[in-house]
Amino acid sequence: MHYDVIIVGAGAAGLTAALRLPSFLKVLILERNTTVGRKLLATGNGRCNFSNVDLSQTHFHGENGWFSELILHRFGSKEVRKLFFDWGLMSEVEEGRLYPYSRQAKSVRQMFINQLALRPQIEIKTGHRVIDIQPLAGLKIGNTHIASAKGFEVRSLIDEVGKQSASLAKQKKRSSSRVVHYTATCLLFCAGGKAAPGLGTDGSAYKFLESFKHPIVPPRPALVQLICKEPPRRLAGIRLRCRVSADIGQSNYTTPVSSAGEVLLTDYGLSGIPILDISGDVVRQLERGSAYVHLDLLPDMSKSDLINLLLKRRQEFTDLPAREWGTGFLPAAVSSYLLFEIVGKRGERMTLGKLNVKKIEALADGTKKWTRQVVNSKGFDHAQVTAGGFDTGAFDPESLESLICPGLFCAGEILDVHGDCGGYNLHWAWASGLAAADGIGAKFIK
Ligand SMILES: Cc1cc2nc3c(=O)[nH]c(=O)nc-3n(C[C@H](O)[C@H](O)[C@H](O)COP(=O)(O)OP(=O)(O)OC[C@H]3O[C@@H](n4cnc5c(N)ncnc54)[C@H](O)[C@@H]3O)c2cc1C
Repeated sequence: MHYDVIIVGAGAAGLTAALRLPSFLKVLILERNTTVGRKLLATGNGRCNFSNVDLSQTHFHGENGWFSELILHRFGSKEVRKLFFDWGLMSEVEEGRLYPYSRQAKSVRQMFINQLALRPQIEIKTGHRVIDIQPLAGLKIGNTHIASAKGFEVRSLIDEVGKQSASLAKQKKRSSSRVVHYTATCLLFCAGGKAAPGLGTDGSAYKFLESFKHPIVPPRPALVQLICKEPPRRLAGIRLRCRVSADIGQSNYTTPVSSAGEVLLTDYGLSGIPILDISGDVVRQLERGSAYVHLDLLPDMSKSDLINLLLKRRQEFTDLPAREWGTGFLPAAVSSYLLFEIVGKRGERMTLGKLNVKKIEALADGTKKWTRQVVNSKGFDHAQVTAGGFDTGAFDPESLESLICPGLFCAGEILDVHGDCGGYNLHWAWASGLAAADGIGAKFIK
C-alpha cells in the first residue's frame, strides 16, 4: 500500500505531526506499542507537564546549540496551548509550567485519540514495529545529486506481544512470521530516543537512519539520577534546597552546569530536579574522566557571611553541642555529617566553643561546596530523555527535512535536542512535530 506520508512512532512528536498534516494527504502511523501515546501517560508523574512559559534557549541543549531556536520561535508555548485548546484540551500554568487543567496526562493522550478519530485520512497501525527502511529505487543517498526521489519502503513486524493473553512463547511465534511492507513519498521519523525502553524507545530505531548515512551524536542518558562514590547512606531520604553545579571541563557544549531547587539524597547518590537538569553534562563528563557535583547548601548567603554567622554562634552558644552549628539552615543529620567529615567521631562530644576558626571555615566550605564524586548514572532505564541523537547539522532547521536524503523528516527526541526538566522536552516534541508537518505539507503543495 502506498501513502503520501508514513510516520514512524505515535509518541508526542508523531501524533502532533499527524494532526497537523494537510487533510488531503494519505497518512499512515506505525507504532510498535499496542496503543498510541503510551509514554505520555507516564509524563510529569502522570500529570504531563507539557510546556513552559519560559522557552529561552538556555533550557535546550545539543551539539548544534541554537538549532531549535527557529522552530521554538514559531511554535511557542502560547501557540501550543491555543492549538491544544482547539483540539479539546484545557490547560493551566503552575509556576511557569503548563499542565492539562485536569492534571491528568491521560487527558492529553485522549485529546490525540479524539482528534485522530475525526481524521479518516490518517491510518494508525499499532503493534507494528518498524524493522527496516529503504529508499525506493531512483532515490540516491549520499553526496551524489538526487535526481528523482521516489520515496521509501518501510517494513514492519506485526508485534502481537501485549495484545493476547497467550503465553510469551506463543506470542513470539506469532509475531516472528508477520512482516508487512508499506511505501510512502515522505517519511517522518519520530521514534524517540533510548530513554525509558520499557515504553517503546530502546534506541533500536537509530540504525535505520544510520544506513542513510545520517551522522549521529552518541546517545547518552539525560534527566537521570546520579550514582555517587560512597554516598552517606544515613542521609538517604533527606531533601536539600540548594544550588548544584558540575565541573564539565573545557567545552563549547551548551548544557547548563548549574541548577537550583530541591535535591534528594538517596542510598545510591543524588536525585531531584536540579540533579536531573545537569545530569546530561555530568554523564558526558564521565565519558571523559572523573565527574564531580558540588552542592551549595546555603545559596542565599555568601561564604564570608556564613563564616561570620558561625563565629557569632560560637561566641553566643559556646556550650551547645558542636553539631548545632547548622541549626536552622541545614537538616540536623546533614550538619552532624558535615561536622563528622571535618573532625571525625570526636565531633559528637565537642561543644561549639571548641570549634577553631579553621574548622569553622571548613564547615562553611562544606556548606557552600559539598562535593560528591559521580561514578555513574542510573542509565537509560531511569532517564527521562536522551541527550544526543541524529546530528541536527544534517537537517533543515525550519522544516526538519534531511539535507542528506530529501523526503525524509525527523522530529522529537530522535534528534540531538533535549531540554531541562519543566515541560521542555514535550514542548520540543510538539514544536518539532508541527514544523516537520508543515515542511512535508509544503512539499505536496508546491
Ligand atoms: C517517565 C518520564 C516522564 C517524563 N515527563 C516529562 C514531562 O513531564 N515533561 C516533558 O516535557 N517531558 C517529559 N518526559 C520526556 C518526554 O516524554 C519525551 O521527551 C517525549 O515524549 C519525546 O517525544 P517523541 O515523540 O520524540 O518520542 P516518544 O514520545 O518517545 O515516542 C516515540 C514513539 O516511537 C515508537 N517507536 C520506537 N521505535 C519504533 C519502531 N521501530 N517502530 C514503531 N514505533 C517505534 C515508540 O514506541 C514511541 O511510542 C518524560 C519522559 C519519561 C520517560
